[in-house]
Amino acid sequence: MDVSNWKNKDAAHVWHPFTQVKTEAPPLQVVKAEGSLLFTADGRSYIDCNSSWWVNIHGHGNAHIGKAISEQFQRIDQVIFAGVTHQPAVELATRLTRLLHPSLQKVFFSDNGSTAVEVALKMAMQYFHNRGENRTKIMALNGAYHGDTFGAMSVGERDMFNRPFEPFFFEVNYLPFPEADKEAEILEKAAHAFATGAYLCLILEPLIQGSAGMRIYSVDFLEKLTRLAQENEVLVIYDEVMTAFGRTGKLFAYEHTEVVPDMICLSKGLTGGVLPMGLTVTTNAIFEAFLDDSRVKAFLHGHSFTGNPLACAAANASLDLFQNSETWQSIERISTFYQSNYKRISTLNRVQEIRHLGTIFAVELKAEDGGYFAGVRDEIYHYFLENGCLMRPLGNVLYFNPPYSTTDSQLETMFRTLIAFLERN
Ligand SMILES: *Cc1c(COP(=O)(O)O)cnc(C)c1O
Repeated sequence: MDVSNWKNKDAAHVWHPFTQVKTEAPPLQVVKAEGSLLFTADGRSYIDCNSSWWVNIHGHGNAHIGKAISEQFQRIDQVIFAGVTHQPAVELATRLTRLLHPSLQKVFFSDNGSTAVEVALKMAMQYFHNRGENRTKIMALNGAYHGDTFGAMSVGERDMFNRPFEPFFFEVNYLPFPEADKEAEILEKAAHAFATGAYLCLILEPLIQGSAGMRIYSVDFLEKLTRLAQENEVLVIYDEVMTAFGRTGKLFAYEHTEVVPDMICLSKGLTGGVLPMGLTVTTNAIFEAFLDDSRVKAFLHGHSFTGNPLACAAANASLDLFQNSETWQSIERISTFYQSNYKRISTLNRVQEIRHLGTIFAVELKAEDGGYFAGVRDEIYHYFLENGCLMRPLGNVLYFNPPYSTTDSQLETMFRTLIAFLERN
């Protein structure tokens, strides 16, 4: 298919996600991806500053992951996962539970981050139902993002994104985002709520809220809130879909703390960001509440591609890469680069706040109309594209969370573009 023809066919037949097709420029026509670079049909290249929607952690075309997928394809491509098991899934569940805290022992497979969250919510609800306990309330944090399916939307921020669906959401209570000076007040509010015995679960993104604009909160708050919930037998769900697999400088974000959730949701970087897969990992105690002579107490949930062997093989290969010191050195190198270049930006006029955690670097701009629909968003996006960087701002927040393969010279290009943008009027 020739290139112009291909573009027209895209416009004729493809409905792109998160896109106002009427006003946005046509999509980039990517023909090749390698390392941290994307190459387009018009002969240009772009640094993949946000790891292709936060998923691609080791860089594109990683040879070790590619080999694992292709070898797995020769053995088993796809097979039903009810009544059947296979080696790549067993290996993945075994390796992950060894890497997680010893209390997290049971792995449930699904297909993406939203379903990993749906599964966690359904498990929490059915856990109490199976035990004959009447708990109906759910607690989440303001600004949360947990995905785009109904359960995930219900526990997320109620904003312009999901207004048409709001009448159909189930009831959820929210705690304010824990700004440093509000922590004590919020914890007190949570303590009162949890003491009622009505709450079944607390769900949150640990330490950093992604879609809300890479908003960071304290380890101390996360530990205290988690303990408050667990003391009242409220199940704690950490949505680590964005934060796991090195993003925050550790394999899992909860490792920055002294607490452990009852459930953890994984996706995005799980397969190295190469194939879709979601996992919900939980405790033996929760698992055991589903064991019974009757089938109705079982967790009657599954997806066609649950435990897909190719995705499992990719995830196992990605875990291999975390056994190499080079992966951790790259994570450290990116974090150090941010640290040593911070000052070049902090004094610039347009900067409201700079946030940095592991391989994530975010700059919030002063903007009269803040938030996702800020007018400045399009200006930023196109400026970065013109300068060879694919970076999708979150409203007035510019951020980098690149693949760990990103070189110092690519980081320098990203920062130079950022500074040049911030120095414009
Ligand atoms: C992206 C994301 C999700 C949703 O994952 P999808 O694979 O896009 O469905 C859920 N939670 C968090 C924290 C995320 O960043």
